Amino acid sequence: MENHPKKEQTLVIIKPDGIQRTLIGEIIKKYERTGLKLRAMKMIQATEEKVEQHYLIDPEWVEKVGEKSIASYEKRGVEPPSRDKKSVGQKVLDGLKKYMTSGPVIAMIWEGNQAVGVVRKITGGTEPLSSDVGTIRGDFTIDSYQMADVDERPIRNLIHSSGSLDDAKAEIAHWFTKEEIFDYSLIAEEILYDVNLDGIAE
Ligand code: GDP
Ligand code: MG
Repeated sequence: MENHPKKEQTLVIIKPDGIQRTLIGEIIKKYERTGLKLRAMKMIQATEEKVEQHYLIDPEWVEKVGEKSIASYEKRGVEPPSRDKKSVGQKVLDGLKKYMTSGPVIAMIWEGNQAVGVVRKITGGTEPLSSDVGTIRGDFTIDSYQMADVDERPIRNLIHSSGSLDDAKAEIAHWFTKEEIFDYSLIAEEILYDVNLDGIAE
């Protein structure tokens, strides 16, 4: 049963701006009401090392984020500070270390069918200005690549969520010990996952 689709897990972190904006409850509600199950949750003051290790879990992340950042400059017709993906990505990472340690964060593990994709869908795209309406980033904040670039800081977008199943597995191991993860059933799982739906009608 360990590999059943209902067992997929993903990591969510409410970033310091999410906590400062008093959006903890709103954010949790968005994930909770989908039917995903909360397997673990804790508040942490992260260190810069913890944040750096987190983003370096995907060895290609620095280059990918550099590429995305250069593309966002070009889309706006602005010359990027450099054409070197690695150095642009490294600058984003340096900023993230400061941003993510500026106050406490809340880390959570959400579990259920397609948890990684469901959580990414609800979280929304990286840039709040262009994130879809209805997503957390799209509805609850207003940052943009343009303003973040003018101020030379990372986009403030309230949430981190794992980008792939492999990342999710490694990120969960990075933020949680086995003892911090709770195994329990939810009544709602019967209607989400039971094959037969016996025992509902009286
Ligand atoms: P995510 O998976 O949507 O969170 O995005 P990434 O993994 O690509 O980047 C991690 C975080 O770095 C984002 O959530 C933003 O806070 C920040 N960030 C990413 N790309 C850029 C960028 O091009 N410019 C700036 N200023 N910040 C960025
Ligand atoms: Mg990411």
